[in-house]
Amino acid sequence: MSPTSRFQVKKVAVLGAGVMGAQIAAHLVNVKVPVILFDLPAKEGPKNGIVIKAVEGLKKLKPAPLGVPEDAALIQQANYEENMELLKECDLIIEAIAERMDWKTDLYHKIAPFIAEGAIVASNTSGLSITKLSEALPESIKPRFCGIHFFNPPRYMTLVELINTPTTEPKVLDDLEAFVTSALGKGVIRAHDTPNFIANRVGIASMLATIKEAGTFNLSYDVVDDLTGKKLGRASSGTFRTADVVGLDTMAHVIKTLQDNLGPGKVEDPFSDVYGTPPVLAKLLESKSLGQKTGAGFYKKQGRDILRLDPESMEYVPAGAKANEVVGRMLKKPAGERLKLLREAEGAEARFLWAILRDQFHYAAVHLETIAETARDIDFAMRWGFGSKQGPFELWQQAGWKQVATWIQEDIDAGKALSKAPLPDWVFKGPVADAGGVHTAEGSWSASAKKFIPRRKLPVYERQFFPEDVLGSKAPAFETAGTTLHEDDAIRLWTLGGANDDVLIASIKTKMHAISPDVAEGLAMGVELAEKSYKGMVIWSNDEMFSAGADLQAMLPAFMMGGAKAIEGAEAELQNVMLKLRYAAVPVVSAIRGIALGGGCEMAVYSARRVAAMESYIGLVEVGVGLVPGAGGLTYIARRAAENAGTSTNKDILPFLTEGFTAAAMAKVGTSAIESRKIGYLLDSDVIVPNKDELLFVALNEARALFNSGYRAPHKRQFPVVGRNGWATIKGQLVNMRDGGFISAHDFHIAGLIAGVVCGGDVDAGTLVTEEYLMTLERKAFCSLLEHPKTQERIMGMMSTGKPVRN
Ligand code: NAD
Repeated sequence: MSPTSRFQVKKVAVLGAGVMGAQIAAHLVNVKVPVILFDLPAKEGPKNGIVIKAVEGLKKLKPAPLGVPEDAALIQQANYEENMELLKECDLIIEAIAERMDWKTDLYHKIAPFIAEGAIVASNTSGLSITKLSEALPESIKPRFCGIHFFNPPRYMTLVELINTPTTEPKVLDDLEAFVTSALGKGVIRAHDTPNFIANRVGIASMLATIKEAGTFNLSYDVVDDLTGKKLGRASSGTFRTADVVGLDTMAHVIKTLQDNLGPGKVEDPFSDVYGTPPVLAKLLESKSLGQKTGAGFYKKQGRDILRLDPESMEYVPAGAKANEVVGRMLKKPAGERLKLLREAEGAEARFLWAILRDQFHYAAVHLETIAETARDIDFAMRWGFGSKQGPFELWQQAGWKQVATWIQEDIDAGKALSKAPLPDWVFKGPVADAGGVHTAEGSWSASAKKFIPRRKLPVYERQFFPEDVLGSKAPAFETAGTTLHEDDAIRLWTLGGANDDVLIASIKTKMHAISPDVAEGLAMGVELAEKSYKGMVIWSNDEMFSAGADLQAMLPAFMMGGAKAIEGAEAELQNVMLKLRYAAVPVVSAIRGIALGGGCEMAVYSARRVAAMESYIGLVEVGVGLVPGAGGLTYIARRAAENAGTSTNKDILPFLTEGFTAAAMAKVGTSAIESRKIGYLLDSDVIVPNKDELLFVALNEARALFNSGYRAPHKRQFPVVGRNGWATIKGQLVNMRDGGFISAHDFHIAGLIAGVVCGGDVDAGTLVTEEYLMTLERKAFCSLLEHPKTQERIMGMMSTGKPVRN
């Protein structure tokens, strides 16, 4: 099997330029999929008016749906009156119009004649029946119709639920799953065509339960949010603020789907009493307080203050109350002990937490058979769609399956739970009880098939060596996988094994993957080993952190003992390692995901190639601690400017240099891999990978391909700098910024030093320099700053509070 799908999506049509449609179109642009965005023709002005406005809105929306705002221009605009022919060019049509069955089916009738042969048609509905929707389509299209449920905001939320109908051809879903996983970088779960599918079913029931229990235990919304956010391993916005962000109207829509479809006389659901609209929500909806978008919901912003709603008086009162510290400490205990403490505690907050966890376990267990193929899908749904660290089954299993099951059943029997429905038999008897939980090495429990089912094996998943997995699945951990060649506290040098034994992997182990002297030494050792026996070296770890930069803390003792002089040696060592990476005889590939700052950014730019996850945040941020990039960052900026000028007809280096200078002087960080490329920390030849779990696969392939194509390290050549004239020009601009009050005197001082290095110092324009020469200037600037009291203030501030000091 080849790990690539032959299914090609050359162009996508998104129907509906609302909240979701416009953002889905933006994400398609991010991952280089051409897209046409349709909406109704505007009644006045240009016919594309609605789409034009939506696309403009994308540039301002936070969090940013686009990698860079100007890419909004890549979204092709269309309306149903003039442009239906364009649909024929599309291999995938995603419908994301308002949540109304009649409107959606009307539109399907309208578009049917224009759907290309073989094109897949999919609806982003949050909860309408996919099968019912499919009935509006001609027979020939039904096999190619399914649900594709994205979560808001679609660029950032991992989850996409795919839902088939009885007539969907299985290959269509497999093809779509491969595309959504690899090209869009999402995590796919297959959901049944049941109301609200999996994530919203469990997630919204859980929110409703939380609202109810908050009332029972008489807790205010701010305290509930403090308890049900990060402390509980859930999205940091907790429960009520999440509802405000999502929009109370949207939430009401999802609740209505539950009310319309489940309960007596409809599809049986023993929890249907829970689906009633909470009175407080009904009142908010009535007063059009829809959350963040209308400025008021469960919370209200008043000037700089955040107020919370008091459900009794329906007045807004000061917010900001925190949970009891004792409960906070309970939540830090191991799972089993944690649940026991919460359950047995006297205080309302702890008992509330046990109650909402119990409600979620109870709900998930009772519904598993009907809403999901396996327990894994429910856990992934809560992780990827609701931002929880763990799904309900994972936590239950971790805390001790049988004990927790007994507690839940006791509460059900005592009438404390939200429904009288007993836990299903499989909880207490048979394979799950024997295995101590629903997740095993064999697979995850399917209550409908009554067995453990392994993950779906599609060729696309061969691109993921260490896919995210549920607790209990005993999936191999990257920390111990493969063959270790060297390992200490700072780094592990290893190979993956099998067909991937030809490329060395370096995984940094320090906190935030800071580059300490030991890490630097380990990287140098890696290069030597790779040069001897491997095709290349990949720097990679399986977490959201490439490297937060040089380890200032590790440098501190040397500084205390020997002052800036002592640091100069360490700095030179670090610069040498960067040069070692760059001039290694085999290619070094940096596989970046998450944060690559300061020294992390330098490590990346000194590699032969970079492979970056879409969500990579790259920058030289040393100014924040009152320093200048000192491990080759500024030398890189000078060299790149010379190289860029060399390929242009106008050989003036200064305009090319200004960009790099500004990025370093303003500590600019790319807010996506795409923006990092624009700033100059990634090159056009580098690869941006939509799915984080494919990063290692792609990086190993890049290293191997470079080697196999006859890789040789770049020549060590001299290059021209702009010298004192350029330096003077930049300084002139800095004076204006300082005098205009835009930068502080110390910022001015640091920026002047940065300018001095990237311009090559006090030399004639066009003087040829070496990297070593510029690195000497870097070190001098770096060390002079270390002794500056204002820089010391910034460093100390950062180390004690983690926040930059403005001085
Ligand atoms: P929205 O109200 O922001 O946008 C709906 C769009 O549909 C508008 O641009 C509107 O012009 C268009 N439209 C309205 N009536 C139409 C008609 N009769 N024919 C054609 N187009 C019409 O809605 P949204 O929040 O983007 O939701 C779109 C879909 O995505 C819905 O099915 C919703 O359930 C689903 N969804 C929403 C979210 C969310 O958080 N908002 C999340 C996942 C899925």
